[in-house]
Amino acid sequence: VKTQGRDGYCFYAPEMSQRTAASQRIENVLRHALAHNELLLQYQPKVDAKLGHIVGAEALLRLHVNGEEVFTPDQFIPVAEDTGLIVSIGTWALREACLQARSWQRDGHPIAISVNVSPLQFQYAGFYERLDAILNETGLDPRLLELELTERTMMSGGDGTIRLLRRIRQRGVRLSLDDFGTGYNSLSYLKHFPVDALKIERAFVRDITQDAETAAITRAIIGMARSLNKDVIAEGVETEVQSAFLRDAGCSHMQGFLFGAPMPAEKFEERLVVTDD
Ligand code: C2E
Ligand code: CA
Ligand code: CA
Repeated sequence: VKTQGRDGYCFYAPEMSQRTAASQRIENVLRHALAHNELLLQYQPKVDAKLGHIVGAEALLRLHVNGEEVFTPDQFIPVAEDTGLIVSIGTWALREACLQARSWQRDGHPIAISVNVSPLQFQYAGFYERLDAILNETGLDPRLLELELTERTMMSGGDGTIRLLRRIRQRGVRLSLDDFGTGYNSLSYLKHFPVDALKIERAFVRDITQDAETAAITRAIIGMARSLNKDVIAEGVETEVQSAFLRDAGCSHMQGFLFGAPMPAEKFEERLVVTDD
């Protein structure tokens, strides 16, 4: 579509090519960041639902240029997936998170670290070998590592998925099913895939105090997961009311702004000192 500009210029601005230009720019920034070591991770506390203390951290990617966040993960992760860059970025994030957890472990804080794994990264031949190499290289106790996989990731793995998941668990690494409740197959997946934990999607948590049906479904999910011996982590907990509901419903862990937003490693360490005293 050619649009006639006010002052007579013609510019070519169909929606498709605008989108391509935006994602092209994100791709450039990502490539630059990868090459110049400008990606970073922030850490969000995961707390014990009953005792309230920090038991783990989720590592979340950030893309900063000159100290400013230029794109959010919701903007750059899809581009990284489309361009295949997610394989290198995901490997970087995994190694970085393991190094950080190893360092906390050395300092007397055996904090479990959770790392997100995207479908393409998981499908990539040699995923297990890389994981194994990173564990050997960093010396992190594998029991302190947890991989967060979505239903989409599990689905992308094909026939070998269950074997791969078993192998990862045999290495001592924990697995959790992320964004639980969003997909269509969630319930059958829980029976099918060998995971240790599930994370209840933020949208459910948001509505439990608003909507009786959501509250009932959430309670049922937690009960079922617990009867299958899985940990249940609620995501996006923002209020005391939500927290109390989830604790009473049997959630084992919680994550959300109520307990702390994702933060730089140094900030996270301050929190560890406080909770351990
Ligand atoms: P996710 O794995 O579901 O991560 C949780 C998201 O919820 C994070 O957004 C976190 O900042 C946000 N969040 C946490 N607590 C609260 C809360 O109380 N309220 C609200 N409104 N939000 C909360 P973030 O960091 O922007 O990441 C978005 C998504 O990008 C992640 O969703 C994940 O799918 C993806 N992502 C982030 N880092 C990585 C990574 O290293 N690898 C891969 N493959 N994906 C990543
Ligand atoms: Ca996650
Ligand atoms: Ca999630």
